[in-house]
This record gives sequence, C-alpha cells and structure tokens, in this order.
Amino acid sequence: MKKRCVKVGNVFIGGDAPVSVQTMTKVSTSNVPLVIKQIKKIEQAGGEIVRVAVLDKNDAQAISKIKKETVLPIVADIHYDHNLALYSIESGADKIRVNPSNIPQKGLGLIIKMAREKKIPVRIGLNSGSIKITGKKLSTDIVNAAMDAIKFFEDNDFFDIVISLKTPYVRETIEAYRLINEQCDYPLHLGITEAGSGDLAFAKSILGIGVLLLEGIGNTIRVSLTETPEREIRAGQVILQSLGMRRFEPEIISCPVCGRCQVPLKEILRKFRKKILLTAKRYPAINNLTIAIMGCSVNGPGEAKQADIGIAGGKDRFVLFVKGHITGSYSVNEIEKKFFEKIKEIANG
Ligand code: SF4
Repeated sequence: MKKRCVKVGNVFIGGDAPVSVQTMTKVSTSNVPLVIKQIKKIEQAGGEIVRVAVLDKNDAQAISKIKKETVLPIVADIHYDHNLALYSIESGADKIRVNPSNIPQKGLGLIIKMAREKKIPVRIGLNSGSIKITGKKLSTDIVNAAMDAIKFFEDNDFFDIVISLKTPYVRETIEAYRLINEQCDYPLHLGITEAGSGDLAFAKSILGIGVLLLEGIGNTIRVSLTETPEREIRAGQVILQSLGMRRFEPEIISCPVCGRCQVPLKEILRKFRKKILLTAKRYPAINNLTIAIMGCSVNGPGEAKQADIGIAGGKDRFVLFVKGHITGSYSVNEIEKKFFEKIKEIANG
C-alpha cells in the first residue's frame, strides 16, 4: 500500500522518498559533547536521521544544544513519562518516538496535542518485549497492539505517524510488517530489534529488513547492532545498495579466487578498492559505476565486459575492459596506472 509522507527535519519518510538510513546514539544524551561527537561521526558515515534516548529532563534539554552543533534531524526516544516528550519537543526534537505500551493514553494525548502544534511526526514504536502477549501468534499480537494505538492517534485527529513493529525474530518481524502494510498507509520504520552483534546479528537484519524491502515494504530502516552507530549506518547502506535501491559507493564485483588464478587478485582488489573509494570522494560519479575485478578467463571477460570498467586476469597479466570493449592487455605492474587513468576518464564524462 502506498504510504503517506511525513517530514522529519529536512528528511522525508514515505511517499516517493528514498528509504532513509537511521541509527541511535549510544551515550547519555545529557553528555552533550560526547553526543555531538557521536552524531558528527554518524553524519560522516552518511546517517540521515538520529535518535537519542531521553531518560530525564536534562536529556530533553540537551536536544536544543545538540541541534545547534549538528545537522541531522533528531528523534527523541521516550518511554514511561510523557512529560519527557513534551520537554523534548520544546527543546526542538524533530520527531518523537513513543512506545504506546508504556505510556498511558492521557499522556499520549498531551504528546499528540503538542506534536500537532509543532508540526512534528510521532513514531508509534512497538517492541515484542513490551506488548501484551496472548500466546497465540506474536506477529498478530504486535499488529493488534499497533492498530489500537493507531486508532487512538486517529481519534485524536493525528495522522503524522510512522509505525514500527520490532521483534528479535526474523520470521515474526516479517509477518508483522506484511500484516500492518495491508492495514494502514502510514510509513513503516523497519528493523530487527536487539539483533545482537557479529555475523548472526548482521544476517538477521539483512534478511528481516531485506525481504521486506524487496516486497516494497518499508520507508526508513535502522539496523540494531551491539556495535557503533556508524556500523549500523553502514549495514543499512549495504542492505539498500545490495537491493539496488540506493547507491552509496561503486558496485565492485570480484571473484572469490580459486586455483585457476594466476595473478595476485586478493592484493590487487584490496589496493584497488581502497583507491577506488578514495578517488570516488573526488569524483562522485565513480559511485555510479559497476567495476569488475576478476581472476581468470572463466568468468572474468564476461563480468568485465558487462561492467562499466573491469579487469580480467590471465597469466601474470590483466585485460582491461571499458564499457564492454577491450582497451589493452597489461602486466600486473602496469594495470593499476591504466585502470585509474580510465576510471577518471569515465568519471569526467
Ligand atoms: S574467475 Fe577464475 S579465478 Fe576467479 S573464481 Fe572464477 S575460475 Fe577461479
């Protein structure tokens, strides 16, 4: 179902807006210098929205100081005490995230009133850990809880809403988002909550978020990892780029290398990748390229031909392809210079 569009600071969520990547700071919000430092790192990593935890009035008041020094829209994460949302809005929060399971309706009503006055959206963020479980189906329980909360917001004439329904389980999360996607036109914030760290956490997030995005479900994503916020941003970008939904860096295709390889492909890939990413900072058009770095003639020429620029290994040499045509054959020592000459030519049009 096509979703409404809400505005968070200068970022749109829903409608025709690209799926945005967000994260959360991981230090006390009232420690302003530390939060600012972390948000600047998030900005540099390409984060588009950042959420801060608001545990008390000091955290809420810190938001105005943080906003003076940073550019990303700030979302205040509120639990239990509705007053903290009101202080955060006064302090300049661009969006409020509430968990309706732990704030009484009277308090939610006051948040809605002030959010409407200040024209900021509210995310109704449900987590499986804080809803009433019937023992039947987790996905249905969480969707029912969300629909009750949505009704309350709508009854209060408030529609500037984003929804999230997170569980730590891939199947249940996918099921829940599929269900809610059919039932409302509010933009959806995707994530697998408390995914953990390491490969399994990464796999859970890629699968949970990726499957939904492939089905056209989801308008903003947050990968929750027990790691740095920049790592979460990077993971989100990787998911979107893998699905061809957004481009954050050049697409580099490289073979895994096997016994047929007669060139030092692993070292070349490492060196080239680093240099390609650095060159892309000066020539951003490089981010739109597909680049193949292949070990031998089995799949090498095919992949290199289909890429914008590619190299395919032979016996101690590489063949260079540009836009589907061979432009020369070069020794391992010569290929770097030739490759980067060509890539800059392509970037310059
Ligand atoms: S392209 Fe060649 S070297 Fe690379 S994995 Fe395939 S067969 Fe092996």
